[in-house]
Amino acid sequence: MRWGRERLIAMPEGHTLHRLATELDARFAGDIVTASSPQGRFVEGAALLDGTTFEAAEAYGKHLFGHFDSGRILHVHLGLYGTFLTTEAPPPPPRGAVRLRLTSRRSSADLRGPTACEVVTDDQRLALLSRLGPDPLREDADPTRAWAVVHRSRRSLASLLMDQSVVAGIGNVYRAEVLYRQRLDPAAPGSGLARGVWGDLWTDLVQLMHRGVQEGHIGTLRPQHALRAREGQPHRYVYRRQGEPCLVCGTRVRTTEVEGRNLYWCPGCQRRSGRRRVGQVDAAP
Ligand SMILES: [Zn+2]
Repeated sequence: MRWGRERLIAMPEGHTLHRLATELDARFAGDIVTASSPQGRFVEGAALLDGTTFEAAEAYGKHLFGHFDSGRILHVHLGLYGTFLTTEAPPPPPRGAVRLRLTSRRSSADLRGPTACEVVTDDQRLALLSRLGPDPLREDADPTRAWAVVHRSRRSLASLLMDQSVVAGIGNVYRAEVLYRQRLDPAAPGSGLARGVWGDLWTDLVQLMHRGVQEGHIGTLRPQHALRAREGQPHRYVYRRQGEPCLVCGTRVRTTEVEGRNLYWCPGCQRRSGRRRVGQVDAAP
């Protein structure tokens, strides 16, 4: 039950968009689609796509793009409540507020409740991407772009990791969990981080998010800790575990609000400022 409720109220993070892009590709790529807006709020946009061939889907951070052979591009951001659900064709009559329905000879997809749903040009797409930091799930991601911002910033790591212009695709769950896994104090400033520590954090993010793409949900426990998780609970160290004992040290997990979202962390485990890598010792005075 917990899972279902959580999926309704947690903003999709990058792994969800990358899975969606893969699914739309498998179902629509190469096919002519009919596009409509049963709800009526995207009638003009849908008409621009109607009758053209869907070439490919692309995810970047929390943004989804659908490329059509006309050169037109569908841009979608699901926001907090959006869903884009696929079925076999022919689909049943639309139910609820369906902003966009795409149907091919094979499949159908209904988009509901997005924050953004628009038809853009490639220039507009590139302008949007230029405002985003690297996406750990993309092969073309360059972590040094994010580092250039992080190591000059006095903002906290918790704040920097939620900023899509620093790293694209991370949400509240990955933020909390990757900081925990790296034992980093969420309040530590970006400017205090050693380059190697950033490299470790990035590598961990890439692995965790790929795991999310494979598994379809965010699980972050290392194998040696998975047995300690309570039955029926998501396999996470701190996210939404406030007041419960840390799976590693037993300290109660805490929560506070950062950038309008709840941050979760373990004060026992997360003491590192990140000035040095784990195992690296101070030079003798
Ligand atoms: Zn702990």
